[in-house]
Amino acid sequence: MALSEQSPNAADSARKIVVDGVSKTYDSVQALSDVSLSVREGEFCCIVGPSGCGKTTLLRTIAGLEAADSGSVLVDGDRVTEPGLDRGMVFQEYALFPWRTVRGNIRFGLDRPACDCPDCDQRLRELVDLVGLSEFEDAYPKTLSGGMKQRVGIARALAVDPEILLLDEPFGSVDARTRDGLHEELLDIWAETRQTVVFVTHDIDEAVKLADSIVVLDDDPGTVQSTVTVDVDRPRERTSREFVDHVARIRCKLGQPSDTSQGSMNGNSC
Ligand code: ADP
Ligand code: MG
Repeated sequence: MALSEQSPNAADSARKIVVDGVSKTYDSVQALSDVSLSVREGEFCCIVGPSGCGKTTLLRTIAGLEAADSGSVLVDGDRVTEPGLDRGMVFQEYALFPWRTVRGNIRFGLDRPACDCPDCDQRLRELVDLVGLSEFEDAYPKTLSGGMKQRVGIARALAVDPEILLLDEPFGSVDARTRDGLHEELLDIWAETRQTVVFVTHDIDEAVKLADSIVVLDDDPGTVQSTVTVDVDRPRERTSREFVDHVARIRCKLGQPSDTSQGSMNGNSC
């Protein structure tokens, strides 16, 4: 079994994203306190923690949509001060334009850098295919299921071929079966693009299914409690011993002991 801790500050020249001592307060609420972590190039990193622990704030800070009160976010060593085409974001709510078709919504992603390339139509077709919506490219969002809408959101974020993909609980509103399919699709896309991914979720199973590493946040205020490396071959079976052990360990860290952890894990031992 491979359950290991990694130091967020470990020297690593391949670090794509470095969050260094970020704190953020909204009015009187401290959302993040001295948060530090790093994500290697091509790594799939999940951030887990209870509702309100600052996951969205942290992701928006990496995206450049939120400014930290102190500390910094570096991408390839450069300080993030605003959103950039190197970072694509998929929001928790679908955030699609209801008056645009599937093609139109994805096309919006391509238009961001004022695309006038003759290859745009070709790229659009590739993106629609990549997320499996070629039969629905003329459909409007109101006619799509939640899973389909989120695939449009992913295709739009991928349109400019960002080096980093940031996703905020993208599958939180879809049913469990659809979610399983979307996990496979996202892992296929990641295998193809080799992007660096930061994926926020409060679903520990989802994190263990997807991630190379899982950053566990505590709340009130949001702090990094630990980072767990998930060294399990893909595709991962939820029922496998090592999968169940990882889930139990992270539940334990979050103070949510599961049946399998009782007796073997308690308090400081998880
Ligand atoms: P999570 O995504 O983990 O649920 P958030 O980052 O959304 O957490 O929120 C962290 C804390 O900051 C919560 O207490 C939330 O109410 C507060 N918060 C988030 N955004 C704002 C905002 N724009 N104004 C005021 N408080 C906010
Ligand atoms: Mg959130």
